[in-house]
Amino acid sequence: MTNDAWGKVREELISRVGKNNYTTWIEPLRLSGIQHGVARFEVPTTFFGDWVSRNFADHILQQLKTSVTGLSRVEMFVATRSEASSAVANQPTAAQPTPSQSPAPRVPSAAKSRTRGANDDQVAGATLDARFTFDSFVVGKPNELAHAAARRVAEGGPVSFNPLFLYGGVGLGKTHLMHAIAHELQVRQPHLRVLYLSAEQFMYRFVQALRERQVMDFKELFRSVDVLMVDDVQFIAGKDSTQEEFFHTFNALVDQNKQIVISADRAPGEIKDMEDRIKSRLQCGLVVDLHPTDYELRLGILQQKVEFYRNQYKGLVIANGVLEFLAHRITTNVRVLEGALTRLFAFASLVGREINLDLAQDCLADILRASDRKLTIEEIQRKVAEHYNIRLSDMIGPKRLRNIARPRQVAMYLSKQLTPRSLPEIGRRFGGRDHTTIIHGVRKIEELMSTDSQLSDDLLLLRRLLQT
Ligand code: ADP
Ligand code: MG
Repeated sequence: MTNDAWGKVREELISRVGKNNYTTWIEPLRLSGIQHGVARFEVPTTFFGDWVSRNFADHILQQLKTSVTGLSRVEMFVATRSEASSAVANQPTAAQPTPSQSPAPRVPSAAKSRTRGANDDQVAGATLDARFTFDSFVVGKPNELAHAAARRVAEGGPVSFNPLFLYGGVGLGKTHLMHAIAHELQVRQPHLRVLYLSAEQFMYRFVQALRERQVMDFKELFRSVDVLMVDDVQFIAGKDSTQEEFFHTFNALVDQNKQIVISADRAPGEIKDMEDRIKSRLQCGLVVDLHPTDYELRLGILQQKVEFYRNQYKGLVIANGVLEFLAHRITTNVRVLEGALTRLFAFASLVGREINLDLAQDCLADILRASDRKLTIEEIQRKVAEHYNIRLSDMIGPKRLRNIARPRQVAMYLSKQLTPRSLPEIGRRFGGRDHTTIIHGVRKIEELMSTDSQLSDDLLLLRRLLQT
C-alpha cells in the first residue's frame, strides 16, 4: 500500500477517533511501507509517535486490516533528515507555526533533534483556540488583575508566584486568558514546553495510563514540562486517585520552580471534596478572581467583536444604541453576549436589514427574556450598605443615626423603584417596619434628590451597579 492509498483508508478513521483527533494525530502520519505484517509510519517527533501508538494504534490497525491482509502491528518512527535539521536551525521560527494558522502539529521531523519543541507538547495538551489571545481580550475593572497576572506569567521570566490561580464564574474569560498565556509563551519563549489541558483531560489521561500500566510515562511527561496549565480544576474534586496524582505532579513541578497556572469556577478554599492539603497548596501562589462583567466591559467586548464582524459582513449597518442595549440587558456572561451578537449579524445579513433595536428585540427575544434579572431587596440592601460602608445588619436594625438612616432610606427607595414588591413586603424585609415608614423613606429621598447632588450621584451609581 502506498501513502496515497493510505490517505483514502485513513479517512474512515474520522468516525472512530473524531474530527479533532483525526486532524491532530492521524493526518500528519505518513505511511512509509508495509513489510512482514508491520505497517511503518513516519511521525514528526518521538513524543508524537508515542502518543499515537498509545492512543490510536488499535484503530489504525483495524482500519488497515480492512484492505491489507496479514497485518499484525503498526509502528511509528521518526525520520532523521540532516538537511531539514539545518534548515530549522537557521529559521527557528519555522518550527513554531503560529497557532492561528493551524492547531494541528506541524513540527518538522527535524525539530526533535533541536529540542522537543514547545509545539508538539502544546498539542499534546488540548488544542488552543487561536482567537483567545491577549490582543482580543478586553480589559476592564472586573478582570484587570487577572489580566495583569496572566501577562506576567506570559512573559516567561522568573517565576514570581506559583501557582497562578484564576477563578470566576462561567464565561468570564478564564480559558481565554490561559490560552493567551500559552500563545504568548510560544512566541516569546519558544524553547519552553507548555502544556495546557483541562482537568478532565488530565484525569482521562491518568486513568488511561493506569489502565495501560504506563503510569511512569505519565508521570514523566507531566514532570518534564516547563509550564503546566490545568483548566477547570474543580472537575477533579472528589476523584481521589486523580487528585492524588495531580497533587504529586503539582509538587514536583513547584519544586523544580516550574510555572503552574490553574483555573477553577471558585476560590480554592471553596472547592468541595478537594483535599485540604491540595487546597492549601493551590492558595500558595497568587489567587485572583475574574469578577462578573460590568456595563463598560461588556460594551467594550461588543465593540471589539463588531469590528470583527464588520469585515465579515461588509455593508451591514448597526444602528446607534444597539450595543448599549445589549450590554445593558445581557448581563449573564460573555459567551451569551457574543452569541447574541453573532446571531444578530447572521440574521440581519440573511434578511438584509439594518441592525436596530427592533431587530434585536425580535431576534434575541429568548436570550433577553432569560437574562431578565430579578433584582431582590436583599441585593439592594447589600449594595447600598457596601456603598455607604455600613453593616448589612444596620439596614434592618433599629438604629436611627443619620449616617445609617439615610442609606436605609436609599435602599427603601431603590427597592420601591427597582422591584415589583409592595410597600408592606418591603417593610417586612426592612426588619418588619410598617409600610408608612417605607412611604416616608421613599418620599424623603425623592425630596432630597433634587437638591442634594451627592445623593443623586449616589443613586445614579447604585442604580447602575444594580442593574448591570
Ligand atoms: P470561562 O473559561 O471563564 O468559562 P471563556 O474564557 O471560555 O470563559 O470565555 C467565554 C467567551 O467569552 C470566549 O469566547 C471569550 O473569548 C469571551 N471573553 C470572555 N472575557 C472576554 C474579554 N475580557 N474580552 C474578550 N472576550 C472575552
Ligand atoms: Mg473555561
